[in-house]
Amino acid sequence: MPPPTDANRFRMEQGREVTELARKLCPTGILVRKSDGMTTAEVTQKLIKNPATETLFEATFQSGPLIAKVDLLTRTDDGWHVQEVKSSFSDTRDIQNYVADLAYSVMVLRRAGLLVTKASLVLLSRDFLYGDNPKRLFEVMDHTAGVNQLSAKFDSFCDVHVSGMLGETTPEAKLIPACRQCLYFDKTCLGKGVNHTVLELPSLHKTKLNRLSDDNIVDLRELPPDLVLTERQRVVRDSALSGKPFFSDNLPKSLESIDWPCYYLDFETVMTVLPLYEGQGCHQQILTQFSLHHRDTIDGEIHHQEFLADADRECERELAESLIDAVGGKGSILVYGNFESTRIKSLRDRFPDLKPSLEAIRNRLVNLLGIIRANLYHPEFRGSFSVKYVLPALGPVNTK
Ligand code: SF4
Repeated sequence: MPPPTDANRFRMEQGREVTELARKLCPTGILVRKSDGMTTAEVTQKLIKNPATETLFEATFQSGPLIAKVDLLTRTDDGWHVQEVKSSFSDTRDIQNYVADLAYSVMVLRRAGLLVTKASLVLLSRDFLYGDNPKRLFEVMDHTAGVNQLSAKFDSFCDVHVSGMLGETTPEAKLIPACRQCLYFDKTCLGKGVNHTVLELPSLHKTKLNRLSDDNIVDLRELPPDLVLTERQRVVRDSALSGKPFFSDNLPKSLESIDWPCYYLDFETVMTVLPLYEGQGCHQQILTQFSLHHRDTIDGEIHHQEFLADADRECERELAESLIDAVGGKGSILVYGNFESTRIKSLRDRFPDLKPSLEAIRNRLVNLLGIIRANLYHPEFRGSFSVKYVLPALGPVNTK
């Protein structure tokens, strides 16, 4: 596994911060650590046998090869209450995944002999604002019924999976949706040595992917002739197999919508789990930076302006005013995607006195992603319209 990226480490650090705040809800809690040559699982067993123990943080349980560590474990009148802390809002769409995580832990705890009577998720409240009492930060949601059901199900097939994972034989690789994000796909697994794979086909429905998987088809050249493709999928296949880029007849007309002088705008934002500034809630996205290139004609000199927020204070108003000054009054403002438009809309709603100027900027935005997606494809896009693929494929990258 590659080491975690800075972004991963930042996320992990914030998760730790939230867990530490949750621990403050249980002032008598004990953090389980290795001691006197004992593992954390052995220390946990020793502590739960002590009737004076009320709450443990990071209690660790082992059953055979299975290990589970739980954020908060609290003694109740009739057993133990397991709580997992998550840095998501209580109305998160990921709730089923979190319940599944909790169900796995509860299964291991029960296999290790613990009487678990209650299982909850500790999630974040949308009402919490910067400076509020940390007690307002969390919502504890009882998921005992769902966890009991799921942990019994896991228990029924866990041993088969464990013996498969720990066995000598590598399981047979099979094309599944997860292969798209898998680090091993083109390095050591199904995509290795294949120039263009079927995963480059955009929006491939899972029934079609299943059919290709059943037929062991990974190479785009082997697509069955009777597989019905959308127009965009056909463009991707034809371009990849011929090695030639595709340009639609509409491309010149689309590019005519760009007015000179041209501005090229890029925003950066910061989103932290816990609010950074007065008046803000959790997971609030804050604009911190813009980069604006500009030139008057297609071969004119490139000029650059930028704004970088001061990390010690919230600077969105200054950024908005600076942007209004920088973009002048005419010409297209090129962006790649909808992000800039969404952020300007949010500035507009936040600062009503700047609304006319910000709305005028939004009306000048031209989304290059939309133009490219509709009119252009290059085999080196590899099925993606991310600027990371599009830019190197279309021309030399000027990093200055
Ligand atoms: S590419 Fe990754 S997800 Fe797909 S079969 Fe191989 S190991 Fe599994």
